[in-house]
Amino acid sequence: MPSCYASYHHRTTSHWLITHPKKPRSISRLTQHFAKAEATAHSGSPRPINDAGKGIHLVSWKDVCRPISHGGLGFRKIHIQNDAFLIKLAFRFLSQPHSLWFRFLRSKYKCKSRVPDTIQRRTCSSLWKGLSVVWDDVRDNLEWQVGDGRNIYFWWDPWVSEVGPLIQYVQPAASSLTVGTLVGDMALPNGEWRWAAFSHLLPYDILVRIAAVKGPCAVVATDILGWSSSPPRGFSLKSAYEIRANSNFGPHDVVWQMIMKFRGNQRIKIFLWLACCGKLMTNTERVHRRFATDNICSLCKAAPEDVNHLLRLCPSAMVVWMSLIKPDRIDEFYSMELREWFRCNLSKLRYFARRGPDWDLLFGSVLWNLWLTRNSIVFDCPLEDHGSILERSQRLQLNIKLK
Ligand SMILES: [Zn+2]
Repeated sequence: MPSCYASYHHRTTSHWLITHPKKPRSISRLTQHFAKAEATAHSGSPRPINDAGKGIHLVSWKDVCRPISHGGLGFRKIHIQNDAFLIKLAFRFLSQPHSLWFRFLRSKYKCKSRVPDTIQRRTCSSLWKGLSVVWDDVRDNLEWQVGDGRNIYFWWDPWVSEVGPLIQYVQPAASSLTVGTLVGDMALPNGEWRWAAFSHLLPYDILVRIAAVKGPCAVVATDILGWSSSPPRGFSLKSAYEIRANSNFGPHDVVWQMIMKFRGNQRIKIFLWLACCGKLMTNTERVHRRFATDNICSLCKAAPEDVNHLLRLCPSAMVVWMSLIKPDRIDEFYSMELREWFRCNLSKLRYFARRGPDWDLLFGSVLWNLWLTRNSIVFDCPLEDHGSILERSQRLQLNIKLK
């Protein structure tokens, strides 16, 4: 699904970029409606609606747009993707100084330096306005690759990896530096650094990093403007998106990738994702959303119905697991933390299961059928297949395996 989206909004946004560099909000709304409808269609239960007749979403759009490795579905927010395209355009603008459009725009908007601090103008084209919106992010992520050193300001331009402009490290007591000094001025013709010219102005750790940079040499090449956020200084749309998204998603969890690599069909995959997120529409969730006042399990009437209860602890589920799990590990199976439980069952195929091969398929199939059976009883809509949960799960496992 995410890959289809990538190609979809790649074409769409490219078109918008030419005519409307501002955020294409109408397209963004369309993608959200489509994605939410897809996620709800795969949830396995009747689509819940609110008093206004509109669909209720189990997972926020913000969480859907998280990377897969961090519990989302990897969707990209289209207005941020549009900004990423603008960054790409701005980077191309700067990295092609001899192109006609670079020279034309520089002349039209009177840009004095190659990388101006700002490009905002009171009256300008929509394209230039779009570039000015993302300009700070472009400027902050540029990094020069030293060639002959004739285009890079030694103190003011970023050319040492992960360090930024050297001016910010100059010792306060030492102020004897020349602003217009080029990188080429600080090296001998053979490329060796003239340490005596700057070593007393910079801290030791910065000098070590400069030592790792090959000195400028006129016969090698000209200086190249690179992109610091994606090695080796090549521009990538992914890094531009991450810069604009400015999101700190925290540590990743391999369980999400395991779920997305589940060999079963898409609806089971999405169901496992929802279950692992704890986002199934259980009675506990209904009470939480004030749709109901009673959170007791509709089947056993003995405990609150939440994700953990309906998948593991409800007697209707326990009876299925008892026939599949090793007796000496049954207590651990019922007590393990839910996400760890998913991780263990999808990766260690012989840890809990009496029969190891394809346990991940059977595990996912049982969970799916537990949910279907519960919904068929609660909503009084009998399933076409009258077999037991275990029989139906084993048939589903076999069908997935044979595909
Ligand atoms: Zn129950």
